[in-house]
Amino acid sequence: METLAPLAYLIASICFIMALRGLSGPETARQGLVYGMSGMAIAIVTTLLLPIVSSYGLIIVGIAIGGSIGAVIAKKIEMTALPQLVAAFHSLVGLAAVFVAAAAFHDPVSFGIGTAGDIKIASLIEMSIGTAIGAVTFTGSVIAWGKLQGVIPGKPIIFNGQHALNALLGILLLVLIIMMCVTQSAFYFWAIVLLALVIGIMIIVPIGGADMPVIVSMLNSYSGWAAAGIGFTLHNNLLIITGALVGASGAILSYIMCKGMNRSFFSVILGGFGGEQASGGAQDMGDRNANIGSAEDAAYIIKNASSVVIVPGYGMAVAQAQHALREMADLLKAEGVNVRYAIHPVAGRMPGHMNVLLAEANVPYDEVLELEDINRDFSQTDVVYVIGANDITNPAAKNDSTSPIYGMPVLDVEKAKTVLFVKRSLGSGYAGIDNPLFYADNTMMLLGDAKKMTEDILKSLE
Ligand code: NDP
Repeated sequence: METLAPLAYLIASICFIMALRGLSGPETARQGLVYGMSGMAIAIVTTLLLPIVSSYGLIIVGIAIGGSIGAVIAKKIEMTALPQLVAAFHSLVGLAAVFVAAAAFHDPVSFGIGTAGDIKIASLIEMSIGTAIGAVTFTGSVIAWGKLQGVIPGKPIIFNGQHALNALLGILLLVLIIMMCVTQSAFYFWAIVLLALVIGIMIIVPIGGADMPVIVSMLNSYSGWAAAGIGFTLHNNLLIITGALVGASGAILSYIMCKGMNRSFFSVILGGFGGEQASGGAQDMGDRNANIGSAEDAAYIIKNASSVVIVPGYGMAVAQAQHALREMADLLKAEGVNVRYAIHPVAGRMPGHMNVLLAEANVPYDEVLELEDINRDFSQTDVVYVIGANDITNPAAKNDSTSPIYGMPVLDVEKAKTVLFVKRSLGSGYAGIDNPLFYADNTMMLLGDAKKMTEDILKSLE
């Protein structure tokens, strides 16, 4: 088996690369998942057959317990709760990295990296960096989970001298790593673990709950690098490759999110935006009144349109309105109306959030268009049906330089003849700022739950 293992690992690595490729588009996502699962099955079976595995008892118990918990969670989890689930899972990857490094440090002979007190220097460096990243990932992910789950207040915790203190802790960590490599003392090893756990908390507390999706993606990247670190300790090439793939793809995802929000990654890390209520940028709406309509009014307008563009946002995910929405679109298409969907890159709370929901409701992929492919068409559109979206349509991003979302690309929905806005109130969205479109002459606000309102419109259309 030992001679076949590198080949099996190579095949598994290719499967993981194909999985990432497949997951980059909705049409190929399922295929991507099949590749991912196959790669993981090959990796697990190959590893279990290696001579280094001397007994299967504990491994089988672990797989049975972990697998059962994972299966139950996967069945039960709501799409809107995925970011906190991902954070919770990353915390386990971080913890695993710390445990593997601790095992290797205390029993180096079993890992083939030297003897106690005489561990190879390369292994010590890998081990200490892997431990540090793992411990930061663990506490960082736990805090991110708590904020997203509402267990810990989402408000950023900011105090004077915070960045200087974090920088100091970072330098101290570096010193401990050097000391541990030089002395090989258990004291320094556990001091690294302890300090990295504290750093994980310190770097996440100043970040507002609303910025957490970007942070979760960043922690995803960290967990990948921590896994790659374990790969070096265990001399497992597959773990190194897989860890690097996760690390790199998490970093790219964080970059895409920041680009979609027109924020620098650095400013997200420094925190402060998107707490309970963003300050500044709120426009004075004076005593302007919004035009508030009913489901019947909306049905009348939509029925007389020849082109409709649907703009889904976070509220559609909360209301789980995608199935009702597709039924409404089917009915309109049967009447000869041209119906399409416009997807903003950061609609919802994670990239691809809306695509997944629409795919779940069997919306044909060719009707779903990205921002750059549809933005020019709004001026020739009769009706835009904005369902549970807010920031991604806010023109303040284009014309108010004081707005926190200034510069973020937005969907030009206001250029359509009529804009129907489905949400429960005139309140703000994620960025905590007013949306002047609610008061525009060509806007009709449909106040209510996205699913209920769409079902009511559907009834009126029928
Ligand atoms: P927003 O958060 O801007 O707006 C969503 C709106 O949905 C709210 O204003 C809310 O208004 C409404 N809503 C909530 N529940 C319901 C319901 N049951 N029925 C009807 N409406 C409901 O979401 P968008 O999708 O427009 O924008 C996404 C925001 O998230 C952007 O600011 C983006 O930067 C940010 N973000 C996105 C990430 C991503 O990767 N996708 C990552 C990190 C941040 P009301 O309470 O009045 O109903």
